[in-house]
Amino acid sequence: MKKTVICTTCPSGCEMEAVFTDKNDLTVTGNRCPKGKAYCLNECFNPKRTFTASVKIEGCKRAMMPVRSKDAVPKDMLMKCAEEVHNVVLKAPVKSHDVVIENVAGTGVDIIAAMTLKQEV
Ligand code: SF4
Repeated sequence: MKKTVICTTCPSGCEMEAVFTDKNDLTVTGNRCPKGKAYCLNECFNPKRTFTASVKIEGCKRAMMPVRSKDAVPKDMLMKCAEEVHNVVLKAPVKSHDVVIENVAGTGVDIIAAMTLKQEV
């Protein structure tokens, strides 16, 4: 199998070509450093992304609060994360990095507040 992967580890943004049959048979070209191969390995076999969303908040002037996953979650769990976050309603005050949902969708990763909002109402 062949896949084009752009490394986002640093601003160089190397465009790499990954050729593989399985995890132990991966050839990467186009990377300028070894981090590129590690990035390809994850991207081909266990892709992860930081989850971001907005949730409702009461008790302040804003109606929505931005939240994100503390660490990247498996890409195929993003929809499950969205489903869990959908029904959350926070109450101000909330501090940046407060945990909004523990272990979202069983990923082992917490959803945290991405900003601080004081109580105003
Ligand atoms: S392969 Fe190395 S140099 Fe290229 S983007 Fe990734 S980290 Fe940067």
